[in-house]
Amino acid sequence: MPEKVDIAANLERVRERMADAAHRAGRNPEEITLVAVTKTIEPAMVKEAIALGLRDFGENRVQEAEWKVPLLPEATWHMIGHLQRNKVKKALPIFDLIHSVDSLRLAQEIDRRATRIGASVPVLLEVNLSGEATKYGFRIAPRVTQGGEKEAFFSYVEEILRLASLQVRGLMTMAPLVAQPEEARPCFQRLRGLREELEERFPQACWRDLSMGMTDDFEVAIEEGATMVRIGRAIFGERKE
Ligand SMILES: *Cc1c(COP(=O)(O)O)cnc(C)c1O
Repeated sequence: MPEKVDIAANLERVRERMADAAHRAGRNPEEITLVAVTKTIEPAMVKEAIALGLRDFGENRVQEAEWKVPLLPEATWHMIGHLQRNKVKKALPIFDLIHSVDSLRLAQEIDRRATRIGASVPVLLEVNLSGEATKYGFRIAPRVTQGGEKEAFFSYVEEILRLASLQVRGLMTMAPLVAQPEEARPCFQRLRGLREELEERFPQACWRDLSMGMTDDFEVAIEEGATMVRIGRAIFGERKE
């Protein structure tokens, strides 16, 4: 028999750690949304989390969300994984917020499909700040000398902001896999810095949300300004993928 995961205890601990991190940074914990990541997790466990007061959940694959979300319609669902353009049509009715808009072509496809059904879709733009080739997102290299990438990103942003059925709300990133959470801090600082630049350059748009921080690094992310943390294992236990 596998050991039963104590979601209530895990959740209490995560909330405490979130609140402590917020207080360390002089922030109000209530301005930070906990998105519980439910990939590979059974609906019964998600129900348990809902009963414990969780409302926001994240899935990274349309195929999995497609059957799971209709069983749990009372929750708010976040798309946090790479979205293929040919899955946009299916994704739109399922998700409340798409964190992972990682190309202009994807943004255009979401806009096209959303316009067709008269929807307006809240999104975050995913950026790859780590330079890791395996990560999705608009690439912005860690080196200042590669300023060209940032200019390219800004010109994509300019086009994305013209898409009438998309509502940009902020940015998302995945920190590099590191041994110590502290090593992820520069990545989170850079996301916040990028938001400041975007606020200056595109003041007409909303750049409020920073979706950053996972099980291994959410406290550092909160100290650096995360408004959404995406946490799976610390709540539901190790995944058996
Ligand atoms: C799986 C996943 C998470 C959560 O990871 P944990 O380490 O389980 O907290 C967060 N964000 C994305 C995009 C994910 O795919």
